[in-house]
Amino acid sequence: MSHVMNTYARLPVAFTRGEGAWLWDESGRRYLDALAGIAVNGVGHAHPKLVRAIAEQAAALIHTSNIYRVLRQEQLADRLCALSGMAQAFFCNSGAEANEAAIKLARLYGHQRGIEIPTIVVMEKAWHGRTIATLSATGSRKAQAGFEPLVAGFVRVPYNDLEAVRAAAEHNRNIVAVLLEPIQGEGGINVADMAYQKALQALCRERGWLYMLDEVQTGIGRTGEWFAFQHAGIKPDVMALAKGLASGVPIGACLADGPAADVFKPGNHGTTFGGGPLVCAAALATLDIMEEERLLSNAQHQGERLKRGLESGLEGVPGVVEIRGQGLMLGVELDRPCAEIVKLALDAGLLVNVTSDKVVRLLPPLIVNEEETEQIVSVLVPIIKRFLGA
Ligand SMILES: *Cc1c(COP(=O)(O)O)cnc(C)c1O
Repeated sequence: MSHVMNTYARLPVAFTRGEGAWLWDESGRRYLDALAGIAVNGVGHAHPKLVRAIAEQAAALIHTSNIYRVLRQEQLADRLCALSGMAQAFFCNSGAEANEAAIKLARLYGHQRGIEIPTIVVMEKAWHGRTIATLSATGSRKAQAGFEPLVAGFVRVPYNDLEAVRAAAEHNRNIVAVLLEPIQGEGGINVADMAYQKALQALCRERGWLYMLDEVQTGIGRTGEWFAFQHAGIKPDVMALAKGLASGVPIGACLADGPAADVFKPGNHGTTFGGGPLVCAAALATLDIMEEERLLSNAQHQGERLKRGLESGLEGVPGVVEIRGQGLMLGVELDRPCAEIVKLALDAGLLVNVTSDKVVRLLPPLIVNEEETEQIVSVLVPIIKRFLGA
């Protein structure tokens, strides 16, 4: 019996090496990676510049403490704020922790304004993590079941529905923030309308609520902009980042702007490992590579090609409900549960994922090229058709 605790339904494959958009298993078989470790390995596997940056930083200094200044952390905060227009960054170690920081920040913001039961508006089908507070903010009963009592202080509304937010505010005078994924990832690649995002941000401004975005999956180039909010031309007050930020070295970041930027004071929040020299070097190298290799425009370009390829390959196929997403964050919704497609694709040498039961999710590395996107389409389309019996 394995001594690894039984928390994952794992596929029967183990990879031993990677290069670019490709992974090799123990037997030397090669797979095209259209998942990138769930939107983590944006610059692909074993990028030489990333590998060098990590090795050099490891040789110089891995960890000191947030008791001291951390130069690489200051550099990374500068870079992220320059890219996003935000003012301040707090570093932690995962997406859940980035959202925990956002939730704590919003609560403290509320208390500082005399609101004793600060409440955050969250969305149906949202995914914010598996710590107790972020699980409570998450909109998946399946993930929450058995872990009650959940944390209070959240009200849930349907996604993409501004009136529902207004209505929730009528019954609740304690709202301090709204937490939104610009595109829901685990929830099935659901895209928030631009008009909705703008109106929601305006509503937050008007009411003095914090407009908080969970860009853990959408951030760092995934949608073809550095951050998904940039498509809508608006800026959040708080933003959580994680997955693609340091190419697989564990990191989370909570960025804040405006009134949210000076809520935390020394002693309010912290973490031992957060923003250490090693992970910050990995993140800085990731951002360098993205700029040097123009990965935002590549994500946009390859994402459009991939989407068009899937659309034309699956056109008129009964059982295909919708193909949606932005940049290299795409989903194919089918009319039935389709977890089996993951295994069929794996057998065909392609790594994809199914989320929300019925949505085949594609999150290829941002370095993916035309030949590789064509291959994703040419392998996946026949698998989906065969699965649907079309
Ligand atoms: C993955 C994800 C999280 C949780 O991140 P972890 O690093 O797994 O804790 C939170 N929010 C979104 C949108 C995510 O996709």
